[in-house]
Amino acid sequence: MEIGAEEPHVFEVEPLNGESLSHFLGRFRRENYLTSSQLGKLTGLGAVILRWEKLYFNPFPTRQELEAMASVVRVDADRLTQMLSSKGVTMKPRPIRLCAACYAEQPCHRIEWQFKEKMKCDRHQLRLLTKCTNCETPFSIPADWVQGECPHCFLPFTTMAKRQKSR
Ligand SMILES: [Zn+2]
Ligand SMILES: [Zn+2]
Repeated sequence: MEIGAEEPHVFEVEPLNGESLSHFLGRFRRENYLTSSQLGKLTGLGAVILRWEKLYFNPFPTRQELEAMASVVRVDADRLTQMLSSKGVTMKPRPIRLCAACYAEQPCHRIEWQFKEKMKCDRHQLRLLTKCTNCETPFSIPADWVQGECPHCFLPFTTMAKRQKSR
């Protein structure tokens, strides 16, 4: 890919299948040793970055904002849009939900888990988790999922799959 003179050098991060923007931004920032506010400066989006990392997409990101992000993370704005939601689907930013069985297959937070009516994973027919199966601590925002474990007792997400109930 061609890198323009005034564009910052970045290590590119490949988006995962179904990955939420929050999880992607966390991975991108860690790969490039950037804080949220530094990414805010690079993109010119400021504190909007933090809102997106918290999965707050209201007001919905504009095309202009997504283009600004795209030029820094080097992922097409249309691809970024897929990490937000689908048209006509209401998002629910809290609680953060998890299908541990999905996470075991591909370690990322999927945007579809935050769709308002979504209570179970269609792929595994399991109820989505909203807190640690061991200590009941709610999950942190996906941008902060570094090791894929409970922020309090450090139980790995993949282990939680055993306690996930089919409905
Ligand atoms: Zn699943
Ligand atoms: Zn825990």
